[in-house]
Amino acid sequence: MASAMKPDEIEDYRKTLEGLRARLRGDLDQLTDEAFQRDGEEGSSNLSNVSAAVADVGTENYDQEFMLSLIENEQETLAQISEAMHRIDAGIYGQCQECKGPIAKPRLQALPYARCCIECAREMEKHA
Ligand SMILES: [Zn+2]
Repeated sequence: MASAMKPDEIEDYRKTLEGLRARLRGDLDQLTDEAFQRDGEEGSSNLSNVSAAVADVGTENYDQEFMLSLIENEQETLAQISEAMHRIDAGIYGQCQECKGPIAKPRLQALPYARCCIECAREMEKHA
């Protein structure tokens, strides 16, 4: 079943998704660069100031873990965005992937790559 959305509405969502994807890809490039740079720094840490080096390593590990979790989140979001774009192409955008009902528009506006309606999302959270 095709969604009841008008083609120009779908076009708006597609543009939103494309914008999000471009922004996330930019972020991701930057985060990846930073994570790799920090890797390089760690390998060449200066032994002449051990306590400072230890403190630095602690902060670096924390930052790197934080960045890696950001990278993971953004990769996950990017995957959801491209799935949403596939759903646009397939003519099922705005349809809940669980109950096949329509996803409420306010939810799509807040989360254009939402794959299921709020009821199903809550249900899945309960069982997570
Ligand atoms: Zn649903």
